[in-house]
Amino acid sequence: MVEDDPRIAEPLREGLTRAGYDVVVVATGAGALAADPTDLVLLDLGLPDLDGQVVCRELRSRGSVPIIVISARGEEIDRVMLLELGADDYLVKPFGFRELVARIRAVARRTATEMSPPSAPNISVGALTIDGRTRRVAYRGDPVSLTPKEYELLVYLAADPGAVKGREQLMRDVWDENWWGSTKTLDVHIASLRKKLEPELIETVRAVGFRFVATPEPTP
Ligand code: CA
Repeated sequence: MVEDDPRIAEPLREGLTRAGYDVVVVATGAGALAADPTDLVLLDLGLPDLDGQVVCRELRSRGSVPIIVISARGEEIDRVMLLELGADDYLVKPFGFRELVARIRAVARRTATEMSPPSAPNISVGALTIDGRTRRVAYRGDPVSLTPKEYELLVYLAADPGAVKGREQLMRDVWDENWWGSTKTLDVHIASLRKKLEPELIETVRAVGFRFVATPEPTP
């Protein structure tokens, strides 16, 4: 919930918590953009630091999280604007708590089918095999233990062997973050993957990014 007015945020948080939701409240647009990913966003448009519409567009550009916009009475908001913002629904203050819960349920239901991920495919490139369902990784027949992010990074690279993946692209797609300069996290994970698998498997493409190089299957 992005809401700067504690007189609104507090009772809503209490009510939603009672209704079984796990609620995190932030009071600013900057706070909303810095928050961990959530299953749904309630976004007040009138925020002290950033324009709520900017926050909405930015959240939408990062992913498919359902967004319910909350606007004050008198603010111009219609379906067209809502679509432009990328929001899924809106409520005008003052609104009833039951109405809010009904909207949350409806939006969650509507987006659930769209959001359910396709079943993860298996990947087999050279000596590397990845079981998408069990998330088990083996290299030259030996199991490899990876952290969740290492796993996602490896799957992303190995799914398209030979293709160069840019640093910004990797940060955006694997870390789900917009790139603001440092990609140290990425380097750390690449280094770790090279150590756990084989250094030659992930090639550095200078000034661009990385590419997965398929190593030949071991000859029996
Ligand atoms: Ca406000």
